[in-house]
Amino acid sequence: MSLHLRYAAISDRGVVRQGNQDSVYAGSHFIAVADGMGGMAAGDLASAIVINTVARLDVPPPEESVADELADTVAEANRAIRRLVADDPDKEGMGTTLTALWFDGEWFNMVHIGDSRAYRMRDGAFEQITVDDTYVQMLVDEGRITAEEAERHPQRSLLLRALGASEVEPAFQTLKGVPGDRLLLCSDGLTGPVSDADIALALQSAATPIEAVESLVGQALEAGAPDNVTVLIADVVEGDPGEQAPIIAGAAADARLAESDTAVLPAIKRGDPAEADEEAESDGEAEPKGKRRGGRVWRTVLACLIVLVLAAGGGLWWVRTHYFIGVSDSGNISVFRGMPVEVAGVEAAWLEIESSRAAEDAVDDVQDDLDEGITADSIEDAESELAELTDAAATNEHLVPLCSSGDSSTDTQPAATADCRES
Ligand code: MN
Repeated sequence: MSLHLRYAAISDRGVVRQGNQDSVYAGSHFIAVADGMGGMAAGDLASAIVINTVARLDVPPPEESVADELADTVAEANRAIRRLVADDPDKEGMGTTLTALWFDGEWFNMVHIGDSRAYRMRDGAFEQITVDDTYVQMLVDEGRITAEEAERHPQRSLLLRALGASEVEPAFQTLKGVPGDRLLLCSDGLTGPVSDADIALALQSAATPIEAVESLVGQALEAGAPDNVTVLIADVVEGDPGEQAPIIAGAAADARLAESDTAVLPAIKRGDPAEADEEAESDGEAEPKGKRRGGRVWRTVLACLIVLVLAAGGGLWWVRTHYFIGVSDSGNISVFRGMPVEVAGVEAAWLEIESSRAAEDAVDDVQDDLDEGITADSIEDAESELAELTDAAATNEHLVPLCSSGDSSTDTQPAATADCRES
């Protein structure tokens, strides 16, 4: 009997951290979470390299030598980190956790190092299936502190093992998949602020993987998310779940960090035909609005260009020298680095500056422009454009008028505009 995975994953920067050093990959045969660490912005690089290297294994595993191939690939990822450290001593100390499972339709081959975790919900029973490589876990194992004390221990994030060290000893184990199993892989940004009991409850009550992922990330954010939060859920199912695009997110989805011979990111960006079909269908619409159509064609051309550049091995460097104003996930007018297009379902844009001005406050024309992305030649241009668009002054014509503050002169309000803004 061959089983399948239905999966969803989100990597969120959290509330406090400036960047995201976590990485995640989910595909039909391979799921992995990595949590990078190290100063000089090296943690994101470490997790990005490792995920981009090991995600190559998202293919049906070989009948024999699965464990060897998994170990070899992890060792190769580790060597890639060590090479970077050798080239740049400032990066000494960079490293990453890795919790990854390679699925053959029946068995999971798991590799684990660090304090990212794998859990399993089976028939209502919730179980952690990895053992943290942490100092506090060692104290627990030795009976010197309790598991509850470990959760509040000041040294709780001190790792005993991680990739990036000169000698690494990941733990390997195999697990049999059973239909109905729900697996959770996560970084400590989830397990820090959210209790095991709440995690178990979310896994049990969510109908789908994405519902569970959103619930858990939401809970971590509500709890203040002091660290990057990465959550991956994979359900073991009997029926074919249909076409699912691979997911790559967090630092590993940042093209700047994925520059390597082994990176899977460019392949993912090239390979997914679903988005191309969608674009083609949109272009084939009978009577698209003129302006929209122009934008759509332009985007399609740009997306093709990016794919060509990627195919030529040029990476996404040039994309990263461009900026545009658009709308953030939380609905605010924001500056992005990159291009306002998706390449095969992957966004070629990175949030740079988020304003506190909701895009809904903008007049309709500006909202349309924001949806398309207002391009800028430099970060300075983008910043001044952002300042202009979001200026709170009553005279800012890009925004809907201020709400009347209760005084009687309502006849100065433009009658055509239903909406108004508070400030
Ligand atoms: Mn972390």
